[in-house]
Amino acid sequence: MNLDLLIFGGGIAGLWTLLRARQAGYSVLLLESRALGGVQSIASQGIIHGGTKYALTGRLSEAARAIGEMPGRWRACLEGKGELNLSPVRLLSPHQYLWSSGSLASGLAGFFGSRAMRSRAHAVPRNQLPPPFDQAEFHGALYRLDEPVLDTASLMATLVEQAGGLCSLYAPGELSFGAESVRVGDRELKPRHILLAAGAGNARLLESLGLRHPKMQRRPLHMVMAAGALPPVYAHAMEASANPRITITSHPLAGGEWVWYLGGNLAERGVDRSPAEQIRVARRELGELLPWLDLSGLKWATLKIDRAEVATPGGRRPDDAFLGREGRVLVTWPTKLAFAPRVADRVLEALSDSAPSGSPVAGLPLERAPLAPLPWEVVQWS
Ligand SMILES: Cc1cc2nc3c(=O)[nH]c(=O)nc-3n(C[C@H](O)[C@H](O)[C@H](O)COP(=O)(O)OP(=O)(O)OC[C@H]3O[C@@H](n4cnc5c(N)ncnc54)[C@H](O)[C@@H]3O)c2cc1C
Repeated sequence: MNLDLLIFGGGIAGLWTLLRARQAGYSVLLLESRALGGVQSIASQGIIHGGTKYALTGRLSEAARAIGEMPGRWRACLEGKGELNLSPVRLLSPHQYLWSSGSLASGLAGFFGSRAMRSRAHAVPRNQLPPPFDQAEFHGALYRLDEPVLDTASLMATLVEQAGGLCSLYAPGELSFGAESVRVGDRELKPRHILLAAGAGNARLLESLGLRHPKMQRRPLHMVMAAGALPPVYAHAMEASANPRITITSHPLAGGEWVWYLGGNLAERGVDRSPAEQIRVARRELGELLPWLDLSGLKWATLKIDRAEVATPGGRRPDDAFLGREGRVLVTWPTKLAFAPRVADRVLEALSDSAPSGSPVAGLPLERAPLAPLPWEVVQWS
């Protein structure tokens, strides 16, 4: 079977690119080895960053510039007016908050008062503080960023629904690469381009293709989940470092309860802790940051998960989405969920060296890949 593009990996990068490529008239198929929705994508906090958080470090630089236009592009999709129709996706919150206490509060006021930042972040007056900040004990400052937070389950389900039968499940043991073809069991595909969008799985695929570049890095996280009678919060607790001390997103459970999903420095610095230690540190952090909050009666769990990215000097977070090219093979690590539209732009640019074949493609007669579950649906609670 001749194809314009064969994609490996059904996370945000693979699915977004599949839909954009099909829309542009290319014949495209996607192969997934486990479950659609990805590994990192379904487990992400669903924040569509616009870079404000990064600008705080003074590195307004590439990171903030590249990512600055992402919330607008996603918002257009959520309203059904963008490059993809994401109108069925559940918007958990249209904005997030940055909060700070003590000495950092005055520094933040200066920063957000500056001309460059005034349109990005809005100081929330004391009489309009949302829960859980609407307490006399809260002495910090709160800023609202108009950057949305999405429910990753409905995001991935919406993309999969639209990708229809173009995504198939396969067993990597059945895969072999020839000079111009790709064999999956007894089926032969002849793709003009191959896109590796398999997250951490790209390393193994590059090896199978005999490619030594680009190199991948993993940056591990130890996320914490607390479930129970909690108010929904989407907020970053800022401290004097590049990363928030803690980032809280909230995700609905049946019966009106919420899961608080905790990232930021808590998750980055907690990778060597046992789950029990990490939960102890999370409780202590919340106890210090929101001392009036009642944490009794909550269920707790943790998740160890790697971010897969292009390797950078010193293992820093890459500033931008990455797309590399080795002949007909394209390799991507989007760095952020928010960067998916940028990955698709670059893949379409790479494909534009020849016209879309336009040949209609039906999915392979392989099994349909299932949808990946949310982390809190499968963890062990304590
Ligand atoms: C805990 C966490 C929180 C995050 N929060 C945010 C956030 O709030 N906002 C944000 O913008 N970014 C966030 N990120 C980053 C973001 O999730 C990732 O950059 C993005 O989801 C990566 O998408 P992907 O499609 O490249 O990879 P993945 O989502 O990992 O998908 C890769 C897919 O490839 C499949 N695969 C693997 N090997 C093979 C193979 N050999 N053949 C075929 N398929 C294969 C996997 O099964 C998987 O389905 C977060 C990341 C983590 C880990």
